[in-house]
Amino acid sequence: MRLLLIEDDVMIGEAASQALRDAAWAVDWVRDLRAARLALQAAEHDAVLLDLGLADGDGCELLQQLRKSGNAVPVIIVTARDNTPDRIRGLDLGADDYVVKPFEIDELMARLRAVMRRKNGQALPILDNGRLSLDPASHEARSAQGHFILSAREFALLQTLLQAPGRIFSRGQLESSIYGWGEEIESNMVDFLIHALRKKLGAELIRNVRGAGWYVEKSASGDIGG
Ligand code: CA
Repeated sequence: MRLLLIEDDVMIGEAASQALRDAAWAVDWVRDLRAARLALQAAEHDAVLLDLGLADGDGCELLQQLRKSGNAVPVIIVTARDNTPDRIRGLDLGADDYVVKPFEIDELMARLRAVMRRKNGQALPILDNGRLSLDPASHEARSAQGHFILSAREFALLQTLLQAPGRIFSRGQLESSIYGWGEEIESNMVDFLIHALRKKLGAELIRNVRGAGWYVEKSASGDIGG
């Protein structure tokens, strides 16, 4: 999963980037609106953390533009502005959540997980396709072979697949969900991770379509609500 962090405070930006990477997010960190617009054009993001007070304008301008253009990417405003009118305005402009600085990083991460669940139309916190399940809070995966705590990158890759069962992801799409800007992409990493996941969870659970990519199967019908 790839996240755009728009934050001009270096200390907060560094702390948040590190915590997000530890939680297996690929992070693109930018410090003003101009760079944010370029980043949004250059890559597809799964979530945005948006500071409001930025050197070249107000984060609400960007939020407004995103929603006007039909971009529904989940946005959490993260700002020092704690008065009620600002909160109301941010949410009404289309933010999915509003966090006031200073914040606990663990709470921000939990809010991010909640926003991602809603994005995927899920109420349950666990990703599950009937044969394979994954807990985004603990990075624990379960299959018929048992349960395993995954490494950050194993988790990132499996989360991408399990959030859209049945959809085929190319090597480039999987790499983009693992690596943020400036991180060197290791050429065999996707194969390495798929191999490791198959070994732990079961070889047949991650399918390959030659020349196209990888996917996990959709749930069998009838197991909703189980
Ligand atoms: Ca700021």
